[in-house]
Amino acid sequence: MNAPYNPGLLEQLRMRYANGPVKMLIGGQWVEAASGETFETLNPSTGELIANVASAGEVDVDRAVAAARKAFEGAWSGVKPTERTNLLLKLADLLEANAEELALLETLDVGRPIQFSRMIDVAGAVGQLRYNAGWATKIFGETAEISAPGEWLSYVLREPVGVCAQIVPWNFPLVMAMGKLAPAIAAGCTVVLKPAEQTPLSTLRLGELLLEAGFPEGVINIVSGFGRTAGAALAAHRDVDKVSFTGSTVTGKAIIEASKTNFKRVQLELGGKSPTYIFADADLSKAIPAAAMGIFFNAGQVCAAGSRLFVHEKVADAVLEGVVNMARGMKVGQTLDALTMIGPLVSAAQLDRVTGYIESGRQEGASVLAGGDRLSGEGYEGGYFVQPTVLVDTKPDMRVRAEEIFGPVLCAMRFTDEDDVAALAARGNETEFGLSASIYTQNISTAHKLARRLKSGTIRINGSGGVDPALPLGGYKASGWGRENGKAGVEAYTELKAVSVAL
Ligand code: ADP
Repeated sequence: MNAPYNPGLLEQLRMRYANGPVKMLIGGQWVEAASGETFETLNPSTGELIANVASAGEVDVDRAVAAARKAFEGAWSGVKPTERTNLLLKLADLLEANAEELALLETLDVGRPIQFSRMIDVAGAVGQLRYNAGWATKIFGETAEISAPGEWLSYVLREPVGVCAQIVPWNFPLVMAMGKLAPAIAAGCTVVLKPAEQTPLSTLRLGELLLEAGFPEGVINIVSGFGRTAGAALAAHRDVDKVSFTGSTVTGKAIIEASKTNFKRVQLELGGKSPTYIFADADLSKAIPAAAMGIFFNAGQVCAAGSRLFVHEKVADAVLEGVVNMARGMKVGQTLDALTMIGPLVSAAQLDRVTGYIESGRQEGASVLAGGDRLSGEGYEGGYFVQPTVLVDTKPDMRVRAEEIFGPVLCAMRFTDEDDVAALAARGNETEFGLSASIYTQNISTAHKLARRLKSGTIRINGSGGVDPALPLGGYKASGWGRENGKAGVEAYTELKAVSVAL
């Protein structure tokens, strides 16, 4: 993971992107936008241009949806489950064969340090493909005994939902795309996938691998473009049967609005303000690094980032000292440096947003225990770097404490023996979100009692870790609608049809 990057590969990518705009994949063809428009994708470490990319408008979205519809109503419906399994497995092999290139693309486009791109992106994407490949042959309907007079045979068919629009954010482009594509394909759907405008490159490269794997034309289409144009057109499109979206809660609301045109199925994975609890009896050698990495990893640009820390007063000084030391000690810097732990934020807009939040925290009375500023000067020129930041003395209604920052900013709070499980759960539940929570204690009753009371889609006890394709992923409250992953995630790409025959 700590090997230096391959300069030859970097040069190949430079040459590829110097050859004109990257095209989109519609109906098995690589095409420019009908308008000829393109947009720039930048390297957040330096602010430099990586590539120009076709910018889809309504016409292109229409064509992509038409291609997905044609495939869905046509040959794809006759493709057997085992063939869908094989296609997904073939794609997984191709991702692995191109792992270093894909990791490099994520590093350049997202600003993820290369050691983490290598560890997470391709492995996460491949994991989704192989897990969901197994489901393609295990989707069942049911029979039911009904109570109507007479003799009946009633059965429930589980059918693919149809043409799916999948709108992906910029923090984990490849893994998120695959978390949506793989179950949709397993269930027999067709797809129009839209990567985020900040990070389209790995998804468009994936398009080439899809064709190499043998996916028939139109089954998976990739449109690159802006949210307010291409994304909005997809969410409102009358011939899209389902939209699956991961991103901000604000955009989630826009998608719900847009989806009303034809009452399409809507699945949303939205923001979070996830709590981490550290009790007095916790194993601090695990809890401290987990609390720090829970918020600083990927510069805090993680939906499930542990952005609020509740720590028992008996261990609070030790925990805060440990977290602050990590905040100050981790190497923040250029993403191609194999030792870098924290890269830049994804864009200038995101940098403004995060530094704006830190400033609002200061103005509302929070104290800065570590970090708090943008990093500039040597090694940071042109990039969007911010220091890992720890805030204390916050109040529940402060914006830094209530809203999702999506940056490396932790709000740390103390609790005492006076706070029982109900009070602690209430503090954890005090925001509009309910995505994820972490608990560190040796007392299993405390851990499980708290887990029951938290309104949170995911809970981890005494350990941290990434998303697993087998476990449902999603949120309570404003953190989303429905779940991805696991059996529920595949079934979310199906419709039920009840058929009754009077015998
Ligand atoms: P951010 O605000 O950080 O860019 P978003 O949640 O808005 O995050 O973006 C996530 C994804 O949603 C991206 O692919 C983006 O293009 C898309 N998107 C943004 N706005 C809309 C919209 N109104 N309708 C559909 N998709 C959108």
